[in-house]
Amino acid sequence: MYVFVKERVESRSFIPEEKIFELLEKTKNPDPKRVREIIQKSLNKNRLDPEETATLLNVEDPDLLEEIFEAARTLKERIYGNRIVLFAPLYIGNDCINDCVYCGFRVSNRVVERKTLTEEQLKEEVRALVSQGHKRLIVVYGEHPKYSPEFIARTIDIVYNTKYGNGEIRRVNVNAAPQTIEGYKIIKSVGIGTFQIFQETYHRETYLKLHPRGPKSNYNWRLYGLDRAMMAGIDDVGIGALFGLYDWKFEVMGLLYHTIHLEERFGVGPHTISFPRIKPAINTPYSQKPEHAVSDEDFKKLVAIIRLSVPYTGMILTAREPAKLRDEVIKLGVSQIDAGSRIGIGAYSHREDDEDRKRQFTLEDPRPLDQVMRSLLKEGFVPSFCTACYRAGRTGEHFMEFAIPGFVKNFCTPNALFTLQEYLCDYATEETRRIGEEVIEKELQKMNPKIRERVKEGLERIKRGERDVRF
Ligand code: SAM
Ligand code: SF4
Repeated sequence: MYVFVKERVESRSFIPEEKIFELLEKTKNPDPKRVREIIQKSLNKNRLDPEETATLLNVEDPDLLEEIFEAARTLKERIYGNRIVLFAPLYIGNDCINDCVYCGFRVSNRVVERKTLTEEQLKEEVRALVSQGHKRLIVVYGEHPKYSPEFIARTIDIVYNTKYGNGEIRRVNVNAAPQTIEGYKIIKSVGIGTFQIFQETYHRETYLKLHPRGPKSNYNWRLYGLDRAMMAGIDDVGIGALFGLYDWKFEVMGLLYHTIHLEERFGVGPHTISFPRIKPAINTPYSQKPEHAVSDEDFKKLVAIIRLSVPYTGMILTAREPAKLRDEVIKLGVSQIDAGSRIGIGAYSHREDDEDRKRQFTLEDPRPLDQVMRSLLKEGFVPSFCTACYRAGRTGEHFMEFAIPGFVKNFCTPNALFTLQEYLCDYATEETRRIGEEVIEKELQKMNPKIRERVKEGLERIKRGERDVRF
């Protein structure tokens, strides 16, 4: 038998289920005046309280809903500008001792092919990612004794040290099982970005039903997983819920209570919030027909309401969603997306590995990175691979963007343009380069002359061959 839980598991919970049901009930048929007050509070950059978020969740009137969408778009523009950060997921291994009923990697799935990258295969994967133009990854692991903190740290170290051509990976985020404080310290020591854990569902009874075996069946061990990460000194943590397992309104409330808990206990909320929807996985009936499937309309609503509820946090939209929907949802407050993603183990360097038997689920946006870049540029976004804050030791970067007036204009946009210029020089197709250069020019025109001159000088240095230029 494995011994996983080496630390005391909290017996309390910061998810007050009864209270959530009560608030969702009490705020039904909200008064439009009250809804507008709440929207205004959010536009003034204040995090909403549970009663306020519950009120927004109960808005059904199409005109009032449009006001919510409009406010989410405005807030995004006002705080973050038009940058979108790009990353790619890198699956390291799919061995797993849990039995999450919705996941292709669950232990009882005999059809899925199990694989863990060797060091050489991992390097091959990183080279393939770097040669697309990626600079930021999230490494993903099943939960298995062989994916120990030492193993995770070793794989991340390899990622950072695999240079290829002009490029390298500059920020590695992690999505792995919850660790002990000691375990987190080992992983932190190789220099990670965000540690991400999704609670999947905040509803305890549903959670217990859908996670019948293995360490993940302990709701509280997972719920407090990011507390332990913070206690180990990891400043950037990412929360998330897997939409489709339980009532989506309850999950949004769960995400908000988790945020408030982290704020109260550590003085800083989550660095990112993720809101994946369940997608079909091979030989996994639950994933084909989730009990609480979320429609596209409700999905847009929940993204906009999360944006308004926690204005300071980064929001991640993955390639689980189809391109057309992604284009729409990005505008509602998303700050990061993945692109060119392949989630078959080894599939970046060996395309034939990107098949159902080796994947956790199906991705609906298979476009290559360059195509996503072009589409973002055409929509007026500035795609960014920036890692400047993290590497300058400014963790909680979104908080900086949020809290310091002028930070985005004077730091984030210039740095985003530098990474975009690198991409255009090293990896872009002809057409993407042309559109990219136009966007850079437009952004330069918006800057004050002093900053513009410094940015122009940086861009020239990149064109002459210098890399990793930053403010
Ligand atoms: N094994 C670790 C865990 O479960 O926390 C980390 C990696 S797991 C592969 C990453 C996330 O994938 C899970 O937290 C879950 O939310 C999501 N996931 C699992 N099955 C999925 C499915 N069928 N569709 C979409 N997302 C899924
Ligand atoms: Fe394993 Fe994670 Fe999949 Fe659950 S979600 S079966 S823990 S890989």
